[in-house]
Amino acid sequence: MKIQDHYLDQAHQVPSPNCDDRPDAQDITLLVIHCISLPPEQFGGPYIDQLFCNRLDPNADPYFREIHQLQVSAHLLIRRDGSIRQYVPFNRRAWHAGVSNYRGRERCNDFSIGIELEGSVTQAYTDAQYAKLADAVTALLATYPGLSAQRIAGHSDIAPQRKEDPGPLFDWQRLHDLLNASRIEW
Ligand SMILES: [Zn+2]
Repeated sequence: MKIQDHYLDQAHQVPSPNCDDRPDAQDITLLVIHCISLPPEQFGGPYIDQLFCNRLDPNADPYFREIHQLQVSAHLLIRRDGSIRQYVPFNRRAWHAGVSNYRGRERCNDFSIGIELEGSVTQAYTDAQYAKLADAVTALLATYPGLSAQRIAGHSDIAPQRKEDPGPLFDWQRLHDLLNASRIEW
């Protein structure tokens, strides 16, 4: 897996309008792990793409009426089968973190890359998701020198009052073991 011009070569590109310039384009120093499923707890539909592209039909599900006007995005989504979608190039600011604070620094969207796993806090993630997440993170660490394996947070870590994703079933040790196994020293 490689990154060229801020795009992941193995990702299917689904451009989202929900992005803008980072205050400092060179300042990419945090990875944020999230989860999302639409409707909640259901996997495989087209709705995450639609939400991130402002095309979610409020009549398709009762929950969508609450969220269809949100302007949100992430850089990457890793679906249950391990396929990857990219909505925002990494040098641009995606809108995934909201009000947030990482080690005393606010507005984490400014300096982070947001990775969504298709999932929920109540269900384990798939083997394919761990494998592709580790591959994608490895490519990101190789491309952006401000990133490191020590600077990967959950959304719940940077917005603990509001968010609980990726949840207790996300296996951080497994991610770090996979990153170590990639045999690249950070
Ligand atoms: Zn989140």
